Amino acid sequence: MRTETSPGAADDARTASPVAVQWFDRRPAMSARAPVVSGPKPVPPAPGDEQEQEIYEVRRKIYPRAVHGWFAGWRVFFVLFTQAIFYGLPWLSWNGRQAVLFDLAARKFHIFGLVFWPQDFIYLTALLVIAALTLFLFTTIAGRLWCGYACPQTVYTEIFLWIERKIEGDRIARMRLDAAPLSSRKVALKAAKHGAWLALALWTGYTFVGYFTPIHDLGIRALSWRLEGWETFWIVFYAFATYGNAGWMREQVCKYMCPYARFQSVMFDRDTLTITYDPGRGEPRGPRSKKTDRHAKGLGDCVDCQVCVQVCPVGIDIRQGLQYECIGCAACVDGCNQVMDKMGYPHGLIRYTTENALAHGYDARTIARRVRRPRTVIYTGVLLAILSVTAGALALRNPLKVDVIRDRASLAREAAPGIIENVYRVQLMNTDETPRRYTIRAEGLPGLRITGVEQPIALRAAEGRPVALRLQAPVEPSAEERMQGEAPGELGPGAHKIEFIVQSVEDDKVVRHEKSSFIVPR
Ligand code: SF4
Ligand code: SF4
Repeated sequence: MRTETSPGAADDARTASPVAVQWFDRRPAMSARAPVVSGPKPVPPAPGDEQEQEIYEVRRKIYPRAVHGWFAGWRVFFVLFTQAIFYGLPWLSWNGRQAVLFDLAARKFHIFGLVFWPQDFIYLTALLVIAALTLFLFTTIAGRLWCGYACPQTVYTEIFLWIERKIEGDRIARMRLDAAPLSSRKVALKAAKHGAWLALALWTGYTFVGYFTPIHDLGIRALSWRLEGWETFWIVFYAFATYGNAGWMREQVCKYMCPYARFQSVMFDRDTLTITYDPGRGEPRGPRSKKTDRHAKGLGDCVDCQVCVQVCPVGIDIRQGLQYECIGCAACVDGCNQVMDKMGYPHGLIRYTTENALAHGYDARTIARRVRRPRTVIYTGVLLAILSVTAGALALRNPLKVDVIRDRASLAREAAPGIIENVYRVQLMNTDETPRRYTIRAEGLPGLRITGVEQPIALRAAEGRPVALRLQAPVEPSAEERMQGEAPGELGPGAHKIEFIVQSVEDDKVVRHEKSSFIVPR
């Protein structure tokens, strides 16, 4: 078994920061999992000794080593899957327009056949609740799956690392390059890497803005330097954030900036699957040759090769126990399994397992059975209920939206002797993908009549339009009505409840009833 030696060999021996271990050890639920770590015990300070402790840890650059295996394959899959969606969606067309377009100027969100208006804010709320509950559920079952496989920070760091490896080489080559004095080769490699990073970051910024303005048109205007100010700002801002976070900040975003890392432990319990080093099997650790009989020598399965540390993108040693820096990417699982293969030992010295499984020796079946527990059942039940209600509401969604606003600027007036007139602004919104015609009528008072608008009113697909109309009502019966004895009562001064009924000509089931009031002046 070959162990790497390099200018950064000291870095290989890096373990979790004392701060992280202290943080971990303070938590009763997780501290029970801390394995016994071999090595000299810290000497307690003598009374009177002055101890100075750094508040901030100086960052040591991490050079993650490439790793292959089952979980690395899943990470690649999720990178390709999420990025195919992100980069591909804005280029799809639907009914002659961009399939997914968040048109902020027109206040319309197009998502394939659905058009959402500000009035549909409830669906956005439902989406956020569903996303949060899904995150809670998966975190309770299997820890930081989101962080390890699908979080944009992880995904873009993976892509940027891949570019870095292609240009500068794997871990040792990159360490040597950084340690080498300035040369034309070093400048060329660094320039190529940063050039590729910046190109990808700019493309990412362009794609992001392409969700808010038609992307074809955006591309044409970008090439002819005719972008609007807000478009330029957001392309550059998003590109800068991508380049900075994935190229430079990397694990620091997860360690110091991401709030999720701080509170995810409250979702963990003793049956949550986490990436765990099995100290019962691995300790006492120590180097040996492949032919050594480890049992005869009293050694555990850990050959202390540091591969699990070298592949870790956040630079921790999982053998120190679960630490909040661990993003659950399982790179150490793949790395260790490769070592186990070379040594002829079984896989799984580092593996997905639970605190209870480790303590009681549960098999995979028992671990799977214990996924069903009150917390996961409640999350699943609430999630399914919200999903069903949201799906039902979307399926039964009325494609017609109506807002009626009485024109407060023009007071009620007498349009003719005995006829009072109020002015309204009716906002019609056709959220359908087909054009429709609508009629408007008003009910609630005798003799109500709509004037000032030509009916039916035609709206194009996904069009919203304000319609100004006048509503007239007689306040006293006419002489003719009195004579015929069918005169309705007089309409006294004040506000009277009325209702507007807007109906589709093509489909009479598409109808909206909107309440309003009709004012009769004194
Ligand atoms: S990769 Fe496995 S064998 Fe090597 S140090 Fe880590 S836990 Fe031990
Ligand atoms: S300890 Fe293992 S799972 Fe955690 S971040 Fe490092 S490599 Fe990924």
